[in-house]
Amino acid sequence: MLKVAGLFKRYKTDRGDVRAVNGIDFEVAEGEVVTLLGPSGCGKTTVLRCVAGLEEPDGGTIDIDGVTVYAHDAKTNTPPHERPISMVFQSYAIWPHMSVYDNVAYPLKVGKPKVSKTRIAERVGEALSLVRIAELADRSATMLSGGQQQRVAVARALIREPKLLLLDEPLSNLDAKLREEMRLEFKQLFRNLNLSAVYVTHDLSEALVISDRVVVMNAGTVVQMGPPREVYSEPCNRFVADFMGAGNVMDGVVESIDGGRVNVRVAFGLVGCADTGRSVAVGSRAIVAVRPESLTLSRTPSVVGYPCRVETDVFLGSMVEYVVRVDEEVLRVRMPLTAEPFAPGDEVHVNIYPESCLILSGESNVG
Ligand code: ATP
Repeated sequence: MLKVAGLFKRYKTDRGDVRAVNGIDFEVAEGEVVTLLGPSGCGKTTVLRCVAGLEEPDGGTIDIDGVTVYAHDAKTNTPPHERPISMVFQSYAIWPHMSVYDNVAYPLKVGKPKVSKTRIAERVGEALSLVRIAELADRSATMLSGGQQQRVAVARALIREPKLLLLDEPLSNLDAKLREEMRLEFKQLFRNLNLSAVYVTHDLSEALVISDRVVVMNAGTVVQMGPPREVYSEPCNRFVADFMGAGNVMDGVVESIDGGRVNVRVAFGLVGCADTGRSVAVGSRAIVAVRPESLTLSRTPSVVGYPCRVETDVFLGSMVEYVVRVDEEVLRVRMPLTAEPFAPGDEVHVNIYPESCLILSGESNVG
């Protein structure tokens, strides 16, 4: 449905060129929702705007539904209104002087081919029902909550039955609770309509819920892509591990591999990691990632325990997060509120279980 290949985009500024997008390739299959995920400034919005035709790239090609809409070498650049896309913006961008009905009907009224009044009424009714605000049709757009405004924006985007929907942080202006509700609703809607979509967000949990595939970006490039579960559980390097909330990421060197276990020498000792068949060799540098909730503290030593000192404890509701120091390394440990409590200053042991440790060799895993 969408094929982006070798995309480049530079912005000229007073301080020289900013390489916002630096050679990006990705595809979106029919009916697939792909999220561009990454920290602020990594180029997500620029990619989306290039696909929409709102920015002209400096290199690469963009094909939508088998038609080339941008090709640098062939000097093809289809204007936005001729691309089979609709876009939903973070700011909603709905017209305040119009009613909900008129906002949603607008693309059909001004678009080609001409659509009859009766058919427009039917289609607006359908679109408003899809986003569950049919009862608000006559309301002025200024008299809506943030969530309702975003629903109007989505209904307006869907009314032209675009081949591809582009959404730029559509939920980030909503409060946390509404955001959680609406991301589930969006997911359902995308599924029911078998929509192909590119969704931009910097919110990890939103990306995990909404997408069939995530494309993790950093500094204008793609670092890793794959289904959310795969990227979450097997980040390819330190950047993705950090972004996916791995929590504890330690540098080390592989000392030995035996009996299904890879032993990595980190700052405070030897850590055993389950051998998941990743290509790591004895003597090679490795990164060990382990989630805070996979570690435990105990007062007595164990075969997987390392002496540590509790620095802080933070109450997180159902969990308590401890920051502990093992020699020079600082680790975060999350334990259920129901577990034995520890206090700052306690000299205890942190247990690092091989099956919870992930080895990252730092190789690229794009594909
Ligand atoms: P955010 O999550 O904050 O929206 P993003 O990942 O979407 O960030 P972009 O908005 O695509 O990032 O910006 C990528 C880079 O390009 C940033 O360094 C940004 O400062 C720069 N940039 C974006 N638009 C322009 C512009 N019009 N002129 C100059 N630089 C720009």
